[in-house]
Amino acid sequence: MTEARVQTCPICKLSGDQIVRENAGDFGRLIRIKCPRCKEFIISHFTEITAQDSLFGPKLSAWIRSRNEQHAEIPQINNDRLKDIQAGLPNYSPREKQIKLLQNIERKTEYPGKAVQIVPEYDIPLAWASTQEEFLYYIESLIERGLLRITGKDHQINGLIFPVAITADGWDYLEQHERHIEERTQAFVAMSFSKDLKPIWEGPIFRAIEKGGYKPFRVDAEPHSDRIDVKIISEIKNSRFIVADVTEQKRGVYFEAGYALGLGLPVIWCVRRDDLENVHFDTRQYNHIVWETMEDLENQLYNFICAIIGKGKEV
Ligand SMILES: [Zn+2]
Repeated sequence: MTEARVQTCPICKLSGDQIVRENAGDFGRLIRIKCPRCKEFIISHFTEITAQDSLFGPKLSAWIRSRNEQHAEIPQINNDRLKDIQAGLPNYSPREKQIKLLQNIERKTEYPGKAVQIVPEYDIPLAWASTQEEFLYYIESLIERGLLRITGKDHQINGLIFPVAITADGWDYLEQHERHIEERTQAFVAMSFSKDLKPIWEGPIFRAIEKGGYKPFRVDAEPHSDRIDVKIISEIKNSRFIVADVTEQKRGVYFEAGYALGLGLPVIWCVRRDDLENVHFDTRQYNHIVWETMEDLENQLYNFICAIIGKGKEV
């Protein structure tokens, strides 16, 4: 009889025989991991042994889990991508974490009234929480707010698993709320409207976004003033992420990117190499795609989208 090997998930450190490791190709250099907390991902063996542990942890686990919950492509983690993924990880407030959790429970609900089984040990990432204690706090908060109820016999949170259901108020609340960011398919493009840069929009930016599985969107003309108009605001709100090419240093581009950041949307910054030194001081801290040719921009942008946002299902 063979003994079940006890494995540990490199990302969330859960260990036990429920963690599955499989060879995922490249002569054993890629490993597929199935973890009940993170779900499924592929990691390079090199990254697993060399990456600093601080790069792993609950947030990365939540990111991997959210990719799985959306049935997107299985996330691949290697040294090149890890830093970019890390830089794009959101900092959710307690309020946002409660919303995420409620939306995740909604996604798992077969029909209103049907209970969803919660396993705190494994479901921590559904609330982007760091610990079970934090996770249970959000569950309790949702119950106190009347958005969620326990449906088990004794109506208490106890044991390793308990059933919850979204209340009528909870459904109202979800409906009032924005569409799930993960389900949005549009990518908003903020850039200069000059003739010089038009081919950049029509060629590499458009193609990279489309290839990445999203719908590229750009407003047709420069706004008349520096004020962001209603149309732009609603299109940004309706987007999954934004691409901000700051070449030519237009104020509107910075406004739109800033607005998106305020909404918690990922922003992919780009700039042509000869304009890099002019990039606004406040945004230099962000990683920029620095491009020289159209082909270069297309490749870098496509890789960024796949690594940070994850491939969409649009195309
Ligand atoms: Zn894990």
